Amino acid sequence: MRFGNGLATAGAVLCITSTSFAQGGTTVFRNASVVDPTSGLTAGRTVIVEGGTIAYLGAAERVPAGAAIIDLNGRYLVPGMIDAHVHIGDFAAARRALLSGVTTARSMGVSHFVDVGLRDLARDGAIEAPEILAAGYHVRPQPADQLFMNAPEMVDLRDNVRGEEAMRRMARLMISRGVDFIKTNATERAGLPETDPRTPYYTTEELVALVDEASKGGVPVAAHAHGDAGGRAAVVAGVRSIEHGTYLSGTTLDLMADRGTFLVPTIAVVADLTMPGGDYDNAVLNVRGRHMLPRVREMASRAHARGVKIASATDTGYGSESVLRLSHELIELVSVGLSPLEAVRSTTVVAAELLGIEDRVGRVAVGFEADLLVLERNPLDDIGAYQDVLLVMNNGTIVVDRTEF
Ligand SMILES: [Zn+2]
Repeated sequence: MRFGNGLATAGAVLCITSTSFAQGGTTVFRNASVVDPTSGLTAGRTVIVEGGTIAYLGAAERVPAGAAIIDLNGRYLVPGMIDAHVHIGDFAAARRALLSGVTTARSMGVSHFVDVGLRDLARDGAIEAPEILAAGYHVRPQPADQLFMNAPEMVDLRDNVRGEEAMRRMARLMISRGVDFIKTNATERAGLPETDPRTPYYTTEELVALVDEASKGGVPVAAHAHGDAGGRAAVVAGVRSIEHGTYLSGTTLDLMADRGTFLVPTIAVVADLTMPGGDYDNAVLNVRGRHMLPRVREMASRAHARGVKIASATDTGYGSESVLRLSHELIELVSVGLSPLEAVRSTTVVAAELLGIEDRVGRVAVGFEADLLVLERNPLDDIGAYQDVLLVMNNGTIVVDRTEF
């Protein structure tokens, strides 16, 4: 691993949970150094959480009757992280993400619409999981076999999601299954040895048809793209975000800045390609990763300099073998030129805007959802502080508390 040591990673994964704070109760954080991505750092704060929402933020020593009190002794209270690109497929993976400090996640493709079910279970508080936004299956020329088992009426599109009408049918299918986002592949993938990630899949017209049909259901489109031609076609077609973007040209990045298209560069997962173990452990992908990694870093740096809105994401499934965490992406983003505060914004207010939930998620502010983390050190001095989250509160419920030890 390039970042930190094995212990830090293990600490983020293997933590002890506490269920002693019931959802809907009142929790008071005292002596908190609050890092709000909009208003900045304020020391000596009291934060009161009631019923899943931040009810008070100020200097007064108020303790409502029956409240649980946590004295932070000056430690840092920050918003829960938003992972804008995940492939979480089961309860254990969802819980791993949550324990690492991810309190909101946008699914970017899984089989059998399990992300739709995960979203509903998480919303009901039935499982320990981040809030999930679902996307169902990838819209790509060769959809996963499972798509046709879930939707046999689509089987004429097997290996043939081509043309505007096919794109519209796919959009309607996803909307009918309750997705929040539609994910398309504007280029081939990077994470398979036999694909060429520069190769475009779709014409601008096909992508326009997808975006148009999706908009009828009120659903935005996210486009996976490594190569520039496919990425530019997706931006011109009006997608809300480009995922990865490895080889995007200055022209395309300018267009994204003009149009407000978000970039989700997922740099750390490209670094994972180059390292043994983890999400990817394949000799061909290792070689590919070694030349992709400097390019995606350079692209993200140029995007940032142009004012493109950058959201942080892992692109992991949070599987048991994964050593990739969102903190690693934040470290990458700082290393390509974002300030630590901008990196904090990339996983809070900027990602929340991408997801369309910026009015309720991503800030330590009154009225916002009580998705909160406690960090030992100031992330504005050292973004690596996110590698070791001491406490995770999800919708007002503490799911892990390591502040005592
Ligand atoms: Zn992905």
